[in-house]
Amino acid sequence: MDAKTCLEKCRLVGVLSFATVDGEGNPQIRCISAIHFEEDGFYFFTARGKNFCRELLENGKVQILAYTRFKEMIRLSAKASPVPEAEQEEKINRIFDEQPYLANVYPGGTRKIGIVFEVKNAEIEYFHLGVNPIFRESYTLGAGVVSEKGYYITDSCIGCGKCRNNCPQSCIVQGKPYRISQKHCLHCGSCYESCPVGAVRKRDGKGKAVRKRDRK
Ligand code: SF4
Ligand code: SF4
Repeated sequence: MDAKTCLEKCRLVGVLSFATVDGEGNPQIRCISAIHFEEDGFYFFTARGKNFCRELLENGKVQILAYTRFKEMIRLSAKASPVPEAEQEEKINRIFDEQPYLANVYPGGTRKIGIVFEVKNAEIEYFHLGVNPIFRESYTLGAGVVSEKGYYITDSCIGCGKCRNNCPQSCIVQGKPYRISQKHCLHCGSCYESCPVGAVRKRDGKGKAVRKRDRK
């Protein structure tokens, strides 16, 4: 798996969910199929009057999700930017050519109320629940950065094996210390809760470790 294949899977899914946060801090999700894919990213269409557009223009932060019928999740934590004014018309027309239903939604020249954003920088998380063991991996698009998540085991491990016995994916390997096979980890937290000496740490997604006693 790689970023390019993830994009191709997104294209095949066709309708992607886009999540932003509004001015009151509330989550907002929209499904969008007005998308043109390229090898290194994609373009999507919305209308300038929509709250979605305003939220994107404020900081560009968006999470985009595709879920295939094979139980593959592809999540992009991305930065969306409006394409330059000089390219807007060409990009709008391209998306309308690829998605004929849009001519019914915005007939004739009314498509000019549209705006096209591009996604060229993102962290991509691929999570496949349809295989045994489950599989996950992260990739980047453009200047995207992978944020470390999940759990790891420190040198405080005493080798009791409780984490391994409680792991639903059997993805903890014996050793000194025991080790989590990250590609097959669910991030379920069972090992974290079952370790008697607090040797399992949780990553906060920003590179920091969270000790068991720090949990809120
Ligand atoms: Fe090591 Fe904790 Fe796992 Fe026991 S439960 S093997 S101490 S990490
Ligand atoms: Fe196993 Fe869950 Fe711990 Fe991952 S988080 S190693 S799946 S128990």
